[in-house]
Amino acid sequence: MKDYKDTLHMPKTNFPMRGNLGKNEPNRQSFWQENDIYSKRLKQNENNERFVFPDGPPYANGNIHIGHALNKVLKDMIVRDKSMRGFYTRYVPGWDTHGLPIESALVKNEKIDRKSMSVSDFRDHCKNYAYKQIDNQREQFKRLGILGEWDTPYLTMDGQYEGSQLEVFAKMVEKDLIFKGLKPVFWSPSSETALAEAEIEYADKKSPSIYFTFESVDHGPFEEGFKFLVWTTTPWTIPANLATAVSSNIDYVFIRTNNEVYVLATALLEHLKTTLDFGDTEIIRHVKGSALVGLTYKHPLYDRVSPIVEGHHVTIESGTGLVHTAPGHGEDDFIIGKANNLDVLCPVDKRGHMTKESGRYEGMFIEKCSKEVVKDLEESGSLLKMEWIKHSYPHDWRTKQPVIFRATDQWFASIESLKTDMLKEIKNVKWIPSWGETRMENMVKDRDSWCISRQRAWGVPIPVFYHENGDAILDADVIRHVADLFKKHGSNIWFEWETKDLLPKQFKNEKSPNNHFTKETDILDVWFDSGTSHKGGMTDFGMRYPADLYLEGSDQYRGWFNSSLSTGVAYHGTSPYKAVLTHGFVLDGQGKKMSKSMGNVVDPLKVMSQFGADILRLWVASVDYSADVRISDKMIKQVSESYRKIRNTIRFMLGTIGDFNYNEDRVSFEAMNETDRYMLQKRDDIVVALNDAYNRYAFDDVIRIMNNYVTKTLSAFYLDYIKDIVYIETKDDGLRRSAQTVVYDILTTILKALTPIIPHTTEEAYQSLEADNKPYDSVYLEDMPKEKYPKNSDLMHKYETFMTYRDHVLKALEDARNQKVITKSLTAKVTLYPNDETTKVILESMNDLSRLFIVSQTEIKTGKGHYTFDNLSIDIEKALGETCQRCWQVTVLNEDSICKRCETVLQKAHL
Ligand SMILES: [Zn+2]
Repeated sequence: MKDYKDTLHMPKTNFPMRGNLGKNEPNRQSFWQENDIYSKRLKQNENNERFVFPDGPPYANGNIHIGHALNKVLKDMIVRDKSMRGFYTRYVPGWDTHGLPIESALVKNEKIDRKSMSVSDFRDHCKNYAYKQIDNQREQFKRLGILGEWDTPYLTMDGQYEGSQLEVFAKMVEKDLIFKGLKPVFWSPSSETALAEAEIEYADKKSPSIYFTFESVDHGPFEEGFKFLVWTTTPWTIPANLATAVSSNIDYVFIRTNNEVYVLATALLEHLKTTLDFGDTEIIRHVKGSALVGLTYKHPLYDRVSPIVEGHHVTIESGTGLVHTAPGHGEDDFIIGKANNLDVLCPVDKRGHMTKESGRYEGMFIEKCSKEVVKDLEESGSLLKMEWIKHSYPHDWRTKQPVIFRATDQWFASIESLKTDMLKEIKNVKWIPSWGETRMENMVKDRDSWCISRQRAWGVPIPVFYHENGDAILDADVIRHVADLFKKHGSNIWFEWETKDLLPKQFKNEKSPNNHFTKETDILDVWFDSGTSHKGGMTDFGMRYPADLYLEGSDQYRGWFNSSLSTGVAYHGTSPYKAVLTHGFVLDGQGKKMSKSMGNVVDPLKVMSQFGADILRLWVASVDYSADVRISDKMIKQVSESYRKIRNTIRFMLGTIGDFNYNEDRVSFEAMNETDRYMLQKRDDIVVALNDAYNRYAFDDVIRIMNNYVTKTLSAFYLDYIKDIVYIETKDDGLRRSAQTVVYDILTTILKALTPIIPHTTEEAYQSLEADNKPYDSVYLEDMPKEKYPKNSDLMHKYETFMTYRDHVLKALEDARNQKVITKSLTAKVTLYPNDETTKVILESMNDLSRLFIVSQTEIKTGKGHYTFDNLSIDIEKALGETCQRCWQVTVLNEDSICKRCETVLQKAHL
């Protein structure tokens, strides 16, 4: 028997089944770089609408982790998508480079002895270290397939950036938003610096909970020697106690127990009776808090008398209703102190040790001081109870150590003055997800000032000079002068140059006729650095203000979104972003936080070398990133599986059009049969759905739509259906060229639509197309697919209905195969018995039913078949005839064992 295999047009492509992505992706990346594909795309979009999408700078330290991968891949998907929709979309990567982690890393990892060198030398070390980190991270980000202006990123330590940052600062000075003040701020003894609220995280801490008393001195109309009952969890602040606060509106009670008279809030009496084991108590009288204000008491540890004052913050939720007040150690305490002309006593130094002002506690760390204070209170007879409690307490987010409130001289930016505008702007921003609006509103609503000074070395110096008499020179022009110098020379000159050389030449002042100026040694909060990226990382690069979109993790409501909004509104009067999109955090497969000690860390570098960046990117696209997302080996394997399906489908389609030239061989839509036209209209529907998902940044919808399309419409239907045409018919057969036209269109649609997500794979496939079939150097230079075919809803409806009948037939065939009635579906004959007129009309109008079912014979009859469904019943039997040795159809054969059709095909092809 003749072998007809060579007469078939089997798929032909050099696109391999296995991607070997770990090894091959870097070749695609070199291709993009060598051919400058990023710039070519920008050039194409040069005169189009802008989509301004600045980078939120990651911190330059260490290898990238899975959270970075999620963040950067999301950004790259947006940049690629918007670019391929024609928007002029730049991606200028940025790095956050100042701050404590680099200082600490130098000391810890590089064994730099900070004390042995000048501040400017130490800062040079910091800078070099940061450059190394950036180089490392840059290569890792590029390995993810992120396109952008990697050779010219913005760095917060660049002179240009620092200068721009000071220009924002100058404007804020001009608007009277910057002031210096003594104020209790979050202070980290472990970092020896003030911290912003954004740098605080709450964690459980064990603290002593003590109840103690202050004995009355000026007892007003009441009996002598009664005691005010007070509660605290920070006994080390008792040396700084200068008042006790009550509320006029709260009811208080005098009680007698164990021969003592105590005052406490009435509402807390029952609770305290139990807690403090009071036993028999006698109520002496009830008074309003206002009756207590103005009385005085004696400090149990010092020879000091202090007043009972009114406190706006006093509640009866916990404690005793009388609040120990130390103006140097609490925000409310400070406000109350100010209202009552109390001193701001703060007997704690920057390392958390007690100072001389604390008397016998001098030199003790606060924890030790607490223990001693408790002991002394007990000795003095004023301690009623002490127990250990676990409570939520503020910690330094970097060192994870507890922080304290400590009154120090700090620089502040007034948020109070900006608040109205900020809240108004928040309303104008599109928040995705929408709960972001409330979150942001709450962040801003309760802030009155932003502590922007830090007592560290590695940062942008606060550009303030002081006269000989200590008066600060807060002058916008002077600051702009310094900004220009920083742009030229970098900010290290602040520590290298003499003060007079940093000031404008004409700067002479009657207060300092001899030019005896000094300069501030504090640096700016790093959030002020990154918060001004709308200038140094955006408008300085020629991008428009405001940006179209900011995208970061959901922790940035308190961080970058917040500091950017503050400085943006201060500088421009409006928000720096029109929309904010946030993503959650990456957890392990069980939803647990990743940590080295748990051994559940997923390393993106490892995933990329083992599976490929496209697998990681496909994972990013598959998850609902609006909440926390999970990743595990199992999930990576699942994603790889769905990748394999997409890749195989692409490969099959590439093979199908292996002998097809789009320019010469394509068939017009009008000349196509109904099935092909249905497929192109379906393609349009998919395009509409994909575009909608992309516009919503709903990449998981993109993947869902695509997976469904690839498996159901393509693999399980059309690509199977056309085998009988593409393999069997003559090369130039109209039906064959029509099917190839459809496949070409669908393939290029898929490649373009998936380029934002799996760019390495789509590029590889695009490059596998015949030269005539790819109009551009790179798939990234193509535009996103658009709708393009005439609508015919009758045809769509007919086919969608027919597809349900087809599902019934496939079920029946499956069963018949299991019952051994048939073998392959091509050995079957299908008899259809429509139950109603519509079904009959639809079935009769399909002109190639056998091919659509992938069987050899089909008949439509009246009556009832073995398999019954709603609209029709079906019989399956063995097809009559013999199997054609070329097309495998069962029919009448000639003496060469092939069918009539194959005989004609071979004659035409002269084979
Ligand atoms: Zn045949």
